[in-house]
Amino acid sequence: MKVVPIKRMMRLFVSLYIGLTACALFAHESHPVPYHAQVSTESVSFPALTSWLASLTAPLKSAMEPSGKDQSEFIMFDALNPEQQDDDRPLMLQTIDDRVVEGQKPESSTLSRDSSLLGRKVRIAILIDDLGYNRRGMLGALQLPKEVALAILPMTPFAHQTAVRSKEQGRLTMLHAPMENERELKLGPGGLYARMSETELKTALTKDIDSLPGIQGVNNHMGSLLTADQQSMDWVMQTLKQHHLFFIDSLTSSHSVAGVTAKRYGLKTTTRDVFLDNIRTEKAIDRQFSRLIKLAKHRGQAMAIGHPYPETLSYLKKRLTQLNKDDVVLVPLSQILSYHAPSL
Ligand SMILES: [Zn+2]
Repeated sequence: MKVVPIKRMMRLFVSLYIGLTACALFAHESHPVPYHAQVSTESVSFPALTSWLASLTAPLKSAMEPSGKDQSEFIMFDALNPEQQDDDRPLMLQTIDDRVVEGQKPESSTLSRDSSLLGRKVRIAILIDDLGYNRRGMLGALQLPKEVALAILPMTPFAHQTAVRSKEQGRLTMLHAPMENERELKLGPGGLYARMSETELKTALTKDIDSLPGIQGVNNHMGSLLTADQQSMDWVMQTLKQHHLFFIDSLTSSHSVAGVTAKRYGLKTTTRDVFLDNIRTEKAIDRQFSRLIKLAKHRGQAMAIGHPYPETLSYLKKRLTQLNKDDVVLVPLSQILSYHAPSL
C-alpha cells in the first residue's frame, strides 16, 4: 500500500479549507438572501451548513475588513400567507443590501468620558427592530428586560399586538419605518420612497404612525437611499416633530443625513453604534456585544440594534443578566437620546 506523504495531505487539507472559506465569503457577500433567509432553527441543513461556514470564516472575514465596517441590515419579508402566520412557523427573511458604517458617530463622542467622574455608570441601550411579522419573534422580544426597546414594522400581521403588549409592559415602543434602499428591495406595507411628493410621503408616514398605538419614536428600516435624501428627510422630521416623536438613525448608509436633520428640527435623537447579529452565531453576536461595551466605556454610552432571531433573543436573555461583571448598566433608549435646540 502506498503511503501518502504527510506534506501532501496537509496541502490537500489547506486547499480544501481555503476553498470552503472562499465559497462561504462569496456566498455571504454576493448572495445574501437565501443564506439568511431562515429565522428558525427548524430549518434544515443548508442554513446550518452556512452558519458553520460563517463561523469558520468569521475570523478571516473580520481580519480582512477594516474594523467597524460592514454590517448589512436584515429585513423581515412577508413571504407567507399572513392568515397562516399566527402560529410558530419560521419567518422568511430577506437580507438587505444596505451597507452601513459603524464607528462614525461624532455627536456622542463628546457625551461622556466624564460619566465615571460624575459617578454615573456606563450605559448601554438596546433596540430590537423588524418586529411584526411573526409570533415567536414577538414573544421572545417581550421576554427581554423592560429596558430593551422594540420597533415594529407597520401594518404587519403582529404589529398591533406587539405594540399593545409592549406598551402594557411599560416598554419603549417604536415605529420601524420602512424607507427606500438603493437596491430597490421590497419594503412591505407603509414604505416611504424618494419619488413621493411631500403630501404623499407625509401621508404615508402619518398612516404608519397612526397604525401603532403608543409609540414614542421612530427608526429607519433599510433606507440607504431615502436617508441620504435631504428633502425627504426634512419631510420625515417635520412629520415626526408634529407627532412629538424621537428619531433613531439606524445608519444604513454612510451618506445618511437623517441624524443631523433630526437635530436641526430639534428632535431627540441618537445613532446606532453596533448591529448585533449580522452574523447569526452566538460567537459573532458575543463579539458584537463586546464591541458595544467597549464603545460605551469609551464614550459613556452606546446603543445596539438587534433583530428577533432566536439566536439573538436567547443570547440577550442570558447576557443581559450578567452586566454587573462588565460594570455597565442597561438603560431605556430614552435615556441616551440627545437634544439640541432646533436650528430651523
Ligand atoms: Zn429593519
